[in-house]
Amino acid sequence: MAGDGEHRNKIDTHPHDGIRHEERDQVLAKLRAGTLKLYELEKVLTPIDAVRVRREFIAGETKTSLEKVGTFSIDIERVVQRNCENMIGAVQVPVGVAGPVVVNGEYAKGTFWLPLATTEGALVASVNRGCSAIVKAGGADVRILHDGMTRAPVFAVESIVHAKQVVDWVDTHRDELAAVAQGTTSHGRLTGIVSYVAGTSVFVRLEFDTKDAMGMNMVTIASAKIADEIAKETGARLVALSGNMCTDKKPAAINGIMGRGRSTVAGVLLSHELIAQVFKTDAPTLVEVNTRKNLVGSARAGSMGFNAHAANVVAAMFIACGQDAAHAIDGATCMTTIDLAPTGAYVAVTLPSLPVGTVGGGTGVGTQQECLKMLGVAGGGDPPGANAKKLAEIIATGVLAGELSLIGALAAQHLARAHKELGRGEKR
Ligand code: NAP
Repeated sequence: MAGDGEHRNKIDTHPHDGIRHEERDQVLAKLRAGTLKLYELEKVLTPIDAVRVRREFIAGETKTSLEKVGTFSIDIERVVQRNCENMIGAVQVPVGVAGPVVVNGEYAKGTFWLPLATTEGALVASVNRGCSAIVKAGGADVRILHDGMTRAPVFAVESIVHAKQVVDWVDTHRDELAAVAQGTTSHGRLTGIVSYVAGTSVFVRLEFDTKDAMGMNMVTIASAKIADEIAKETGARLVALSGNMCTDKKPAAINGIMGRGRSTVAGVLLSHELIAQVFKTDAPTLVEVNTRKNLVGSARAGSMGFNAHAANVVAAMFIACGQDAAHAIDGATCMTTIDLAPTGAYVAVTLPSLPVGTVGGGTGVGTQQECLKMLGVAGGGDPPGANAKKLAEIIATGVLAGELSLIGALAAQHLARAHKELGRGEKR
């Protein structure tokens, strides 16, 4: 696959090797005249030529050279079918590596290098420092507390009496609804149903074990069948397959309380000596910074996240590893806690909503797949589900490393200096 990509990369620097000039000009003329839509290009050209011609059209329309957007290694044929419509090329995000870090999870056991796709100077260096502290402390303990991807269709009912009837019917027909879901997926399994009522709206929050898939497509397809069954049997009117109590890609307390995706927690005990050596501070100062900033400050601000910068690591690892980047919002509901311990400080991150997968979605794109391979989690696990849980444990460890480092920098009053040295913009 890498060879294919390199080949395409070369072809793409010579825009029209694969297509005759006259044919290209005819297609461009149709696009300009509006007789051919941009999204129809794959119907009349090969995927590679469609991407090139679309890019040339957009370059002309916007009077912008898209040479760099047109130079990449990912497999066009795969991506246009599964990941991106109206493709014109790729943007490249630098990938740095933090580590090694030691993870003592139930699925991830051993030493890992963390791929972080970011343009935020100082982020990788910061996570790296946290990784080094974790290694010196003997590794991070990590556990998955809950695992379930959700979809919550919303139904309209006639009255609150009807609402209660629908809720009762759903409650007493769980096995039938699970069987309906089973017809749509071989890996997914309905594991929970909780209904919520708001006047004449009924929300049925369906939860699934999705094994190694992040699961949003799988769960949405299964939920559509279940929703039809509920509507047919109860007279409730299905209004929307997603009623926002899922809750997908929006900050929401329900995900923090009920969990969504892989609910993961990571913790490490730092000795007094280690805190002094790595972070140039002490345990009571770490505790005070965490309490006043992450707990009191976040509460005062009405924040859904009680952490320093969990989204930084979640987003960077999600982008590197082919996860849905919009789910960084779910990862940001992390709560960071620091307790004084007799020998130092116990630092933990609780991530109730970490939707990750190692099959499906963007995980099969060549560059992202390489990052998953670095972590030993590409593809389906043995048993199914083991790889996705391993990935969640590794990402939670990365978040812990990031939290340690930033809280440590704040405690030692080093934050501004590090950013000045590593992350300032270009010199003017
Ligand atoms: P998917 O690629 O749609 O589905 C996963 C597929 O992998 C299933 O067909 C499953 O087969 C198969 N599979 C093979 N081995 C597996 C294993 N070991 N464990 C689990 N499944 C296995 O991916 P998805 O995770 O469900 O959805 C992810 C995509 O959904 C992302 O691209 C994301 O951006 C997108 N998304 C969709 C929505 C939505 O509303 N549809 C919302 C947000 C995001 P079986 O099902 O036959 O078992």
